Order: sequence, then structure tokens, then C-alpha cells
Amino acid sequence: MLDPIDEIKSRLSIEDVVAPYVQLKQAGRNFKGCCPFHQEKTPSFVVSPEKQLAYCFGCHKGGDMFKFIQEIEGVDFPGALEILADKASVELAKFKSKTPSVTKDERDILTELQGEIADLYVRNLKDESKVLAYLRGRGVSDEMISEFKIGFARDDFEEAYKYLLDKGYKKSDAIKAGVLISKDTASDKVYDRFRLRLMFPISDEMGRVVAFGGRALKKDDQPKYLNSPESAVYHKGNVLYGLHLAKKHIKEQDLAIVVEGYMDVISSYQAGIRNVVASSGTALTLKQLKLLKRYTKNISFCFDSDDAGQEALLRACENAQSLDLNLKVITLDGYKDPDECAKDSADKWRDSVSGAKYYLDFYLDKQPSGLEAVKDFCDFYLRLLDGVPHPLEKKEYLAKLAKKISLPVPQLEERMESLKGQVTRGKINNADSVEKVGISAGEYLLGLVMHFRGKFDDQVKEEHADLFDDDLKNIYKQMASYYNSRACIDDGLLDGVTEEERSKLQVWALYVDNRIGEWSDKDVNDEFWKALRKLQNNCSKRKQIDLTSRIREAQMNGDSKLELELMQKYAKFIS
Ligand SMILES: [Zn+2]
Repeated sequence: MLDPIDEIKSRLSIEDVVAPYVQLKQAGRNFKGCCPFHQEKTPSFVVSPEKQLAYCFGCHKGGDMFKFIQEIEGVDFPGALEILADKASVELAKFKSKTPSVTKDERDILTELQGEIADLYVRNLKDESKVLAYLRGRGVSDEMISEFKIGFARDDFEEAYKYLLDKGYKKSDAIKAGVLISKDTASDKVYDRFRLRLMFPISDEMGRVVAFGGRALKKDDQPKYLNSPESAVYHKGNVLYGLHLAKKHIKEQDLAIVVEGYMDVISSYQAGIRNVVASSGTALTLKQLKLLKRYTKNISFCFDSDDAGQEALLRACENAQSLDLNLKVITLDGYKDPDECAKDSADKWRDSVSGAKYYLDFYLDKQPSGLEAVKDFCDFYLRLLDGVPHPLEKKEYLAKLAKKISLPVPQLEERMESLKGQVTRGKINNADSVEKVGISAGEYLLGLVMHFRGKFDDQVKEEHADLFDDDLKNIYKQMASYYNSRACIDDGLLDGVTEEERSKLQVWALYVDNRIGEWSDKDVNDEFWKALRKLQNNCSKRKQIDLTSRIREAQMNGDSKLELELMQKYAKFIS
């Protein structure tokens, strides 16, 4: 049996893994696209199906599919493993059971613990006829109650506490998960965070409970919704409520509907529209959008029409622009929220969803009246347009705006330019500065030797090793001794290099492949000599600099004998 990593690699291709994040174009045997890790106009992000690599030669991010997912999703290796296993339909549990001695890390404990508590709350609700009646009165079916594991926390300060201790969990873990609150650090008194509340477990996309939202049942209980605090497994901005249930529907329908509240999701689900998730905070973060982008590029928002909802909508639109998603806005005619609409009529909710407007049209259709309002609208819309990734689309909507407010396009463009710099709203922060484009001469030569294995049998000589920087020297030596031993051309070439060096070599080989992979044998051969000369030049420049500084040092120390010696060396060197 393969291990899960090999199993996943055998089922997924690197281009399929990358495609949801980057628009790829075929370029010879490889694909190219604009890097998702840094802002760029000419694509330096290369995907090689053959080498199973995705790498940016601008900012040097990427690697195999696990590395890529780790970087783009900001997760650790186990996190990437889960995401890819899910995508490849590989059951990790099957592999885990073969190795029973896996030690649980904190994250596992926290999700397991909250899963237990969710079960407790579910059982509580079954005995609580009044609360059940309240839920049914709000139109929630028994099927949805069990599907979303809605539960009930009793009016009890230590029910969850005792329950967890009984199950063998540590108090400290229950506090970390946010299920318990410690009164103060001096005493070790703790009590249950959630009391007399309707409980909505919040799960990650794999369906593990990571937090709770508790709705007050008494009118004057504040806050109306009490949420778990952030923890090792719960970051508000990384989770979408309902995603573990909705993801397969989102994929099937190639559309994700994003709403605001738990009840919006549940009612929609009950009405048969199941590709729905909630942001469960007001604004939608980049992380959450990226999470959705794994399943679809089409996203429709339906947020409340109040100020907070509209602000959240705008911020979500701006975030989504930077990810090049196809965004639409759903408006509800005569209903407060999707919950109300879906309960009243599944058809009306469905019609609203299919009547969603492209976000640029949605905002363009606003009707400002009065000069001030039109000025504000104009600036607002220009700022929005400034974030549109494709120039063609920008041009099209500039023309529409020009028509709407009767101002020529060039003047709008001028205004747009002058608004730049004033824009402070949440644009994608391009923190990854690009240090160098491409790779060093030594790396290039090693990439050449690696990619065109067997083509340079006579050229690759051990005596060249001194031309390389120390960190590359060993790799070259290994390759040279292999080349010279004339054994068969296979991975034996890499026997003496470390895992890390090996993966670097793959990246350099990809760089070479991308540049000159299609060249003729003769040209490739010439390129080898050129690369070697470049390396020799660099090397002598380095030596020159080194000699100069040693001469200066000798002068300062008054060591005229050494100075003379070094000067003679230097003279020989540059002659
Ligand atoms: Zn990059």
C-alpha cells in the first residue's frame, strides 16, 4: 500500500491543484501564470506536470503540491495533507489506523473535546421540549436540527466542566477550547462559558467542531450571540459556517452563496438550496474567500441591507477582486434576510439567487441624486474599478460609468489616477517583496545538468567544483562523480545529496526547462559552455574582490611582505 502522500500525488496532478488559484496558460510542456504570492504583470509562476512542481521564479515560493498548498493556504504540512486528501478523496483515517501510536497534538484534542460537547448539547436539546418548540416555531425542521447538530446548553455553571472531566479531558484544554472560563488566574475555579443558550456548533471544512455560537434564549440576555473565543483550532476569519455540508453542493453547482447568519444557512438548506455558507462575522476575509475558491470561482453574496451588512459586502467585493473571483450580489425583494425569504418561499429565494447581479453592475445601478451624491458615487465607483484585475473589463465599466454620469472617459481616468494613493481600503497587501528574479549562475548550471541528464557526459568535470559557492559545491561534486562513473542515467544521479538539495535541484531544473526546454541539442550544448563561462567570471570577480580586501588589510597592518605577495597574485590574476 502506498503511503497517503504518494497516494494523493498519484491521484492529483499539480496543474489541477494549482488551477483554482492561478489562471494557467500552456507554455510548451509546462504551464505559466501570474504568481499568486506576489503582484506581477509578466508571469513568472511555472507549473510542470512532468516534474510535479509549481514555482515562482520572481518571489521563490512554491514547490510540490504540498508545499504550494501550505504556502497559499497558510497551513502546516498536516493541514495541506488534509486539504489534498479531501480533494483526492483519499481517506487519511485508513492510513492512520495502520499506525496506532500517533500522538495527538493539541489541535486534535481541542476538536475532539468540542465534538464531545456538541454531542452533549444535542442530547440536552432532545429533553428540552420548550426549546424544541421554540425552534420548530421558528420553522426549523427536526431534520435540520440533527443535520446542523443544533444543541442546548443548560442553565448550569458546571455541566460541561464535569462532563469533560468525566471523559478524561484536562481542564486546561477545555479552557483553551473556550468551553470553560477560568474565574481568575489565582484560584483554579472554572465555569461553563455557555449557559441557557441555543448552541450552533461551528465546524471546519472537514466537519470537525472548532467553536460554538450560542444564541441567548432569554430576551434580555446579552449578548444575543455569544461565540467561542479564538483558539488553536478556531480563527474567526478562517472558518465558514456550514462549509463542511455545503462544499459538495458548491462544487456540483459551481456556485457558492455567502450569507451572514447561521439561520440564513439553515433555512436555505432546508429549502433545498444547499450551496450556502455564512461568514459568521460581518466581513469576509481573504482567507475565507480562498477557502471558497477551492471549490468554485463563482460567489454570490447576500448580506443584510443595513449599514454593517453593506460595508461587509463592499469589503468582501474588494477582497474577491484581488483573487479574480466572479462575484455577484443577491438582493431580496421585501425580505429582511435569506432566512425570512427561504422560509416564506423556496422559489423566491431560488429566483433571488438566479437574479443575482454582477457586482460591478450592482453598484453601477445605484441611483445617487444631487451633485454631492453623484460626486461621491463617482469616486466610490472609480476606486472600485481601480481594483478590477482585467484592463478590458475596467475599460468596459469606465465607459458605462461615463455614460451614466455624462462625463467623458479621459476625465474619469484622470480622476481615477488622482484618487490613487488616497485609497486606504483593504487592498491586498503585497508584503512579499521580490528579491531577485531568476536564479544564480551556479544554480542555473546545476539546473542544466539536472534537466538535461546525460547530455553533458564529457563536459561535467569534477575540477569545476571550485567554481561553485560552498552550498552548491557538494551537489555538483555528487553529480560530476556520477556522470563520470558512466552508470545508467536515472535517479542514482542524486544519491549523495540531501532531500532539501534534491528539491532545490528540481526547482532549478524547472527554471531551465521553462527557459530552454525546447532548444536543440546544439543550442543546449552552447548554453552549457556559456553558463560555465559565466560561472568562471563570477568566480574570478569574487576572488578579485577577496584579494583587494586582503591587500587593504595587509596595508593597514603594515605587513609589506604579505602585501607584495598579494599584489603579485592580483597582477597574475588580472593579466
Ligand atoms: Zn511570486
